[in-house]
Amino acid sequence: MVIEGGCYCGAVRYKAEGDAMFRGQCHCRECQYISGGAPNLVMGMPEAGFEYTKGAPKAFRRSDLENPVTREFCAECGTHLASRAPGMPLALIKVGTLDDPAEFGGPQMAIYTVDMQSFHQVPEGCATFERMPG
Ligand SMILES: [Zn+2]
Ligand SMILES: [Zn+2]
Repeated sequence: MVIEGGCYCGAVRYKAEGDAMFRGQCHCRECQYISGGAPNLVMGMPEAGFEYTKGAPKAFRRSDLENPVTREFCAECGTHLASRAPGMPLALIKVGTLDDPAEFGGPQMAIYTVDMQSFHQVPEGCATFERMPG
């Protein structure tokens, strides 16, 4: 599949080719900042097939965490587009930035439920993991 998306203001656009390797929601405390408080919905696409086609994101990594993810966002409008986790050859694309978010189809797993809030919800049939699977 080929999916395209971009930020709220349109300054940064991306294209991702390949099969989705991960469809999930992350409840970790860090993601709650980025999502607005809900779990963060992400679709993992092969890093090799992912490229920015317009503009370039700003990247941020926390220095106080042991294995921080890199979070890529538009410096103009602040929309978070994707993150990269150390040792994972995936671009974890934020579902809300897809041109057609329906292509996500729903999460297959909920991760980092250890940080779940009482008002978070996990869809029925979705596998849950306290941290990462495996
Ligand atoms: Zn933007
Ligand atoms: Zn997270």
